[in-house]
Amino acid sequence: MITATAILFGLIFGSFLNVLIARIPKDENVAFPASHCPKCKTPLKAYHNIPLFSWLFLRGKCAFCKEKISVKYPIVELFNALIWGAVFFKLGLSYIALMIAFSFSFLLALSVIDFYIKMVPDSLNLLALTTAIVAATSFQGFSINFQNALLAVGGFALLRFYLSYLIKKEALGEGDLMVAGTMGAMLGIKLLLMAIFTSAILALPVMMYQRDETDESKTVPFVPFLALALFIVYIFDFAFIDYWNSLYG
Ligand SMILES: [Zn+2]
Repeated sequence: MITATAILFGLIFGSFLNVLIARIPKDENVAFPASHCPKCKTPLKAYHNIPLFSWLFLRGKCAFCKEKISVKYPIVELFNALIWGAVFFKLGLSYIALMIAFSFSFLLALSVIDFYIKMVPDSLNLLALTTAIVAATSFQGFSINFQNALLAVGGFALLRFYLSYLIKKEALGEGDLMVAGTMGAMLGIKLLLMAIFTSAILALPVMMYQRDETDESKTVPFVPFLALALFIVYIFDFAFIDYWNSLYG
């Protein structure tokens, strides 16, 4: 029951994420004006604004001008619903679950923006980091999350110094450092290492396929892989801990 409700709220919040994704890179106000068709600017009616289902009913077209509406919108809503379902299924109904769900949602929006327009807005990144740090109900909990975030950012900064020196150009952007902080706050150090390893495994095939060093626009955005790896390791932490223990007892 909690999971089903979380999926529903995840769909609704996913719909708000679409607004953030469309407006934050353009520095637009995220609350006004109300949602409108990006082509004909007609404000949407309430029943055009139902997450996922409106897109299906309208068959991916604007109700007024019939302009195609990107499949990216329902996909973001669906992904966010799955994220919220998984987080609340794992943690139950709690303040921590809500903060973790928000953090993953902001990372999802960040990943979509990075993927489509190669931009990593600090506002979303810092929101993800902050919600990950405050996902604790005691002062000790906050401070552990904060320490783990510091270690993760520091570790990533060191990695960045060495990598940049070795490949003789800037490796890992500041955006990646902030995401690392979020990963550290949520996972702690052991699982963080496994998440970084997982992200590299996920990214490697794509990077090899898309490798074109002369074209900056074709560099592979790394944030989506970090975020995906974080999600996998966070949800299936028991399996990763088992694996770690089988290696290092
Ligand atoms: Zn339209």
